Amino acid sequence: MDARHAAGEPRLLISRKALLHNAAVLRRRLHPSVRLCAILKADAYGHGAVMAADALTRAGRPGEVSTGADAIAVASIDEAAALGPINVPVLIFRPVENAFVAGQRSALESAINENWVLTLCSPSAAEDVARIALATGRRASVQVMIDTGMTRSGVDIAALPELLRRIESRPSLRLAGLCTHFACADEPRHPFTVEQLERFKQATDPAAQFTPGRFLRHAANSGAIFFNPDAHLDMVRPGIALYGIDPTGRPNMDRHLRPVMKWVAPLLMIRPVAKGAGVGYGQSWIAPRDTYVGLAPVGYADGYLRRFSPGAVMRLNDRIVPVIGRVSMDLTTVDLGPDPDAAVGDDVTLLDDDPLSPCSVYALAKWADTIPYEIFCRIGSRIRRVCVDDETSHATTDSQEAA
Ligand SMILES: *Cc1c(COP(=O)(O)O)cnc(C)c1O
Repeated sequence: MDARHAAGEPRLLISRKALLHNAAVLRRRLHPSVRLCAILKADAYGHGAVMAADALTRAGRPGEVSTGADAIAVASIDEAAALGPINVPVLIFRPVENAFVAGQRSALESAINENWVLTLCSPSAAEDVARIALATGRRASVQVMIDTGMTRSGVDIAALPELLRRIESRPSLRLAGLCTHFACADEPRHPFTVEQLERFKQATDPAAQFTPGRFLRHAANSGAIFFNPDAHLDMVRPGIALYGIDPTGRPNMDRHLRPVMKWVAPLLMIRPVAKGAGVGYGQSWIAPRDTYVGLAPVGYADGYLRRFSPGAVMRLNDRIVPVIGRVSMDLTTVDLGPDPDAAVGDDVTLLDDDPLSPCSVYALAKWADTIPYEIFCRIGSRIRRVCVDDETSHATTDSQEAA
């Protein structure tokens, strides 16, 4: 078979319908008064933040109540700026520190001008933001991240009253929220989540009673939304579940989440390989029989990790084909067997949107000894994100969507 070049390109197929479906699944778990803040950091976990923000903040037809997100959150000011105009509150979770080091000040000024909510963990950060807000002539919206046991970012509970007094005393600051983050919420009924929630409530009840409804209390990530309803409070912050992945890291069909992403690439070449020939760097795979090897134009530079091989598989039409040899920077080889039954240009699926597929994100995470989050975040910028069902195609069926 001659090596011909394929016309198609590798791409991530992103289902807007699946994203909105997952938001609705999460919404059903919540009391109607609880807000949903969609976590779109790291380019929406690799799915494409602009597309995700658009889907989640423009859901529903004009005049309808939004079925998507009441707020969105990212890690950094740069990430918020990259989203473009957003018609719901935007929260930035990386704590403000060193506000006066190079470049930071102008970034904070623009964040204050946009009324994005900045995260504070220390009185000095509160002072800095208050001064910058005063200079810009606007009030800065801030939230306080409280460390209830994660021991990462966040103000210690003992230091919280002083920080709140500081915020209260600065007219250029407006307290928008008090929040915490759970260390073990991905494990159902983990006692530490209950303990963290208890600490959070105790630390924030006085302020909440003193000024009820003035700011939001929030704590729950995807895991806690499912496993700790007591932690829903005023707002929840789902990330991974919005993208259709179970927070436990294992598929669970009872929760009805639908994976949003599918990663496909056209077969670039199909070549006969004689028994005994070595394939790829290090010649780590030796053909055990005469066979055909397929070439996919994706490699570790795209986040198709070197550690996937040996072990990982791809789907080709209705067959599962093993990844063989070493994954290289731009290319990956699969064994098509003695009867390749495929054509150059046929799409191989590298990452499937069926949670039970042998090339689901769960399976890939297992081969690389990591979690689905990391697989998603590593997918490179060379891969185009394509929305397969924008709002103009509401009638798209599931089978068309998979095509
Ligand atoms: C990333 C993040 C989340 C979302 O976590 P998931 O486990 O993906 O639901 C929620 N809150 C904060 C502060 C985060 O950084």
